[in-house]
Amino acid sequence: MHARLPTSCSVETCRMTQSPPPAELDSRRAVGIFWRALRLRCPNCGGGGIFRTPFELRPDCPNCGLEMDRGEDDYFLGTYAVNLVAVELIFAAMFTLVVILTWPDPPWAALQYGGAILMILGAVACYPFAKVGWLAIDVMLRPVSRQELPGELHPPLAAALRDRVRQK
Ligand SMILES: [Zn+2]
Repeated sequence: MHARLPTSCSVETCRMTQSPPPAELDSRRAVGIFWRALRLRCPNCGGGGIFRTPFELRPDCPNCGLEMDRGEDDYFLGTYAVNLVAVELIFAAMFTLVVILTWPDPPWAALQYGGAILMILGAVACYPFAKVGWLAIDVMLRPVSRQELPGELHPPLAAALRDRVRQK
């Protein structure tokens, strides 16, 4: 037997009445989101403590409750692309700087071996930032809806949905 939803509220009407249109993308909002990510904080709320270990995010933000993978199993595949781009940019900046500072006789061998070491260490060091950066890009382009945050459903509807889940 299914629990009955409150008569004044169905899933559809509750979502319609409780979900304002997503926030518009603007530069101030984007800067705020990326500033939070650079400090390894939740891009949605700015709260800290989102990492369980230096390389592993908690399942949910301990402050706002946002699921860090936003409900998708392969969510963090984009992290690798962000990490690759970040490390390539760091390498390009360091390479250019060393060549300019040592011109006309750049240390090519040092650049070759140092670059390889920099790429390996950079990939490890940038990984946590890439992970939160990927989440920040997603939050910027696909703003968090109220349904993604706990405690945002109309309380009687939330209770009815919990009952349904328990009965399955
Ligand atoms: Zn949060």
